Amino acid sequence: MIDSLHQEIRSKIQAAQRILVVTHIRPDGDAIGSLLGLGLALQQAGKTVQMVCEDGIPQTFHYLPGSSDIRSQPSGTFDMTIVVDCSDLNRVGNALNGYNVPDLNVDHHITNLQYARLNLVDPLAVATAEILAKNLGVWGLPLTTEVAASLLTGLITDTLGFRTANVTPETLRLVASLMETGVDLSQIYMRSMVQRSFEAVRFWGAGLSRLEREDSLVWATLTMADRQASGYKGRDDADLINILSAIHGAEIALVFVEQPNGNVKVSWRSQSGYDVSQVAMLFGGGGHPSAAGAEIKGNLEEVRRQVLYETKKLLQTRS
Ligand code: AMP
Ligand code: MN
Ligand code: MN
Repeated sequence: MIDSLHQEIRSKIQAAQRILVVTHIRPDGDAIGSLLGLGLALQQAGKTVQMVCEDGIPQTFHYLPGSSDIRSQPSGTFDMTIVVDCSDLNRVGNALNGYNVPDLNVDHHITNLQYARLNLVDPLAVATAEILAKNLGVWGLPLTTEVAASLLTGLITDTLGFRTANVTPETLRLVASLMETGVDLSQIYMRSMVQRSFEAVRFWGAGLSRLEREDSLVWATLTMADRQASGYKGRDDADLINILSAIHGAEIALVFVEQPNGNVKVSWRSQSGYDVSQVAMLFGGGGHPSAAGAEIKGNLEEVRRQVLYETKKLLQTRS
């Protein structure tokens, strides 16, 4: 027996021929893994699929089969539009301008705004890729080795290599079932989590050289000048936030990344149950209780001042 939401998703997929799948800007491993995992499964079921991410695909994920088919804008018309790993539609950038309300929203963010006709949102899932891995079969789609490689990338990256507090025996059983398709866990783990480009590590260096701390708050700033000097191509922090959140005693870690459009991208990570998604929401962003982000208008100094002020208020709720 499958419930009525899954029944509707399955029927809609079966009836559609041209399908658009879209994910968020500044894509992470779950965005790309979910986009490709679902996109390839639909292709293998005989659908004509366009896979879209406005920012394209980061170098880190070029190892994934099908990654070169990801485009930055859709073209033409579709029978079905699916958005993956996005809590709100601003997260897709301009990719859906001129298109109707999406048919399906598959996501795991607690801050999801339920913006589609059908919303499959599970905040308990460790990754959007987990929701897909559990349900592709229910929707009549195949879970091939290529699909499994993509979904495994999403599961590994959103759990930081299975070390976040939300990983359960069930997560690992799902991973085991993906491995049984023949996918190489060790290789995907190395490529998605461990190996980084020379330029990305130089970019970290610039941020780390200005690392700051106040009580249990630590933060770093990455400027446009740092990005140019390092040669790093992405608009994100190259995962510098993961290094900061490893600092002993850092209850909340923050990274500020200056953007070419004059905005500042902020990332929050927390320990011990501080819900940083609430602070991110104050600035128009969102995410999960222990990992959140926002893109904020304003210059670097002013945004940093306001964000540090609001984040310190959250820390004070328990001191
Ligand atoms: P990041 O710091 O960009 O790695 O993001 C941490 C979490 O917050 C991820 O789950 C993101 O999907 C989410 N997030 C990041 N930026 C935004 C934003 N501008 N709006 C909503 N959610 C965001
Ligand atoms: Mn994501
Ligand atoms: Mn995710």
